[in-house]
Amino acid sequence: MSGPMTIASVRPWPVAAALLCLGLWLSACMLSGRARAAEPGAATRSEPKRVLVLHSFGREFRPWSEFARSIKAELERRSPWPLDIQEHTLLTARFNNPGPEAPFVEYLGSLYQGALPDIVLSIGAPAARFVQRYRGKLFPGTPMVLTVVEQRLVNRADLTDNDVVVAVRNDFLAAFDNILQLLPDTRTVAIVVGASPLEKFWSDEVKRELRPLEGRLDLVWFSDLSFDEILKRASDLPPHTVLFWGLMSVDAAGIVHEGDIALRRLHAVANAPIFSYQEPFFGGSTVGGPMHSVAETSSKTVDAAIRILGGEKPSNMKFEPIGFGSPKYDWRELRRWGISESNLPPGSEILFREPPIWESYRWQMLLIMAVILVQAGLISGLLHERHGRQVAEVESRQRLAELAHVNRYSAVGELTTSIAHELNQPLGSILTNTETAELMLKAASPDLDEIRHILADIRRDDQRASEVIRRLRSVLKKTPFEARDIELNDTVGEAIGLVRAVADGRRVALTYTPAIAELHVKGDPVQLQQIVLNLIINAMDAISDAEMVKREVAVSTRLSGRQAQIRIADTGPGIAAGDLAKVFDPFFTTKPQGMGMGLAIAKTIVEAHHGTIAAANQPAGGALFTIKLPILR
Ligand code: ADP
Repeated sequence: MSGPMTIASVRPWPVAAALLCLGLWLSACMLSGRARAAEPGAATRSEPKRVLVLHSFGREFRPWSEFARSIKAELERRSPWPLDIQEHTLLTARFNNPGPEAPFVEYLGSLYQGALPDIVLSIGAPAARFVQRYRGKLFPGTPMVLTVVEQRLVNRADLTDNDVVVAVRNDFLAAFDNILQLLPDTRTVAIVVGASPLEKFWSDEVKRELRPLEGRLDLVWFSDLSFDEILKRASDLPPHTVLFWGLMSVDAAGIVHEGDIALRRLHAVANAPIFSYQEPFFGGSTVGGPMHSVAETSSKTVDAAIRILGGEKPSNMKFEPIGFGSPKYDWRELRRWGISESNLPPGSEILFREPPIWESYRWQMLLIMAVILVQAGLISGLLHERHGRQVAEVESRQRLAELAHVNRYSAVGELTTSIAHELNQPLGSILTNTETAELMLKAASPDLDEIRHILADIRRDDQRASEVIRRLRSVLKKTPFEARDIELNDTVGEAIGLVRAVADGRRVALTYTPAIAELHVKGDPVQLQQIVLNLIINAMDAISDAEMVKREVAVSTRLSGRQAQIRIADTGPGIAAGDLAKVFDPFFTTKPQGMGMGLAIAKTIVEAHHGTIAAANQPAGGALFTIKLPILR
């Protein structure tokens, strides 16, 4: 049977093991204790400081969001301890008719029960009021920094020794003075402000503070409009009006406006400049002026927080309310609204100045300039070349006219017989008729009718002689190249008239068959006649040289498609096959006294008329020269 267990009966091994473990644990504890004693403060440094940040409207609600962001960033930068920052938002401030706060208080209570934060930072007036109201219940004994709160909204009655206030001071008169200094013609200020209780409070404060400006400025309040209506009004403001962006948390329609979207929308449609006294709204939408400086408020708030976390008593710290910082302006807005920089107060800072295009795009500008320079060089080169070509063209026409003139003189010898013959006929008739008339006048009763007829004949013969001389002079006249609308049948006909007597003298049958239709071309008639004369004389030369039996030169004009043609065919021996390609070359001649310039000049003249000239041999013998000119109509 088993009796009660005695000490003697306990086996020794397990006891020894337990004692060993105990010994090890104790020595480990002693060692760690010694280590801690050797590094004082190590435990406190590794333990994070718990910071509770309470927002008034929301974590992205301007202007407070920008202050909160800056405070957190600076706190993290300057804190010697690791930080555990927790953020909460007092949503009730967002509503025009705030609901009960109790559920939120309950929530925070259960969250921080038994593990209170080391410090509470409230951002904005509603958050300050909340933490003051519920500190006993939620954070007994926790130090608080009430920051970004306007001095008028600080509940001083409920401040304790554990509180530090970093207040700001709104100076609406200074903000409006700034508007009047920049835009002295301003008559009306439209104030954009929401409809939450806080915004209503501020509307009254602005009205009160701006009393000194009564009579100088009309204030228009947009507080009872929905934001959409505000946009409509802002897009159609009368001249000399500016917009003052007070605050737009909740509009009259109960719509909450977070961030700066509302302001940006207003900026997009407004036909007047927008002013604000809050730096978080500056940089894109507002003109600027004296504003609350985010950096200064953050720096003071973080000063207080670090001193408190380091163990200093909050009651020892006092901060004066922070006024507006030195004025800042947005260069883009100054330019947009034509505000002169000379109107800005001394010491102003101008931001967002766009560097001149030359600085921003130096390389691109250099490249563009280089391209422009190269282009300009090319263009001026081309213009110069074009001018040179025009001068050369005019000169070559001039030379051509001169050459044609010289060539015409060489044909004068040839024409002399023809002219003398043509002049002889009328002059002979005039002489005969005059002698007859004289005889008749000597009679007792002269037949006056007959004498009248004789005189008419004399006049006609004189005109004929004059016409011969006129034609000769026109062909020999030295005139510059001058193209005009001419009728080709007549032009060629006149040339035939000049050379007909030469043909007769050479016993050559010269025929002319003009086209039935009129042939209008653009050309210089004297030069075209010169070509025709030349070709006819060449044709007669060929016939004479070979002493041909059949001695005919047939000139004709015709219309072929859109071209007028002049054809000069002869019954001479034709052109040797090897010479066909050379006859238009300058100085090519097969005649002992020839110059070899006639056909070269003819080709140049025809080409100056945008036409062509070709030489060919006819199947039945003889040469055929064809000139083609573009028809005018
Ligand atoms: P030139 O009459 O001074 O010789 P052209 O330039 O008028 O100069 O003529 C060049 C050459 O073309 C002539 O020498 C001649 O050999 C040839 N030629 C011109 N017209 C005819 C023609 N109708 N028949 C044969 N040969 C011709």
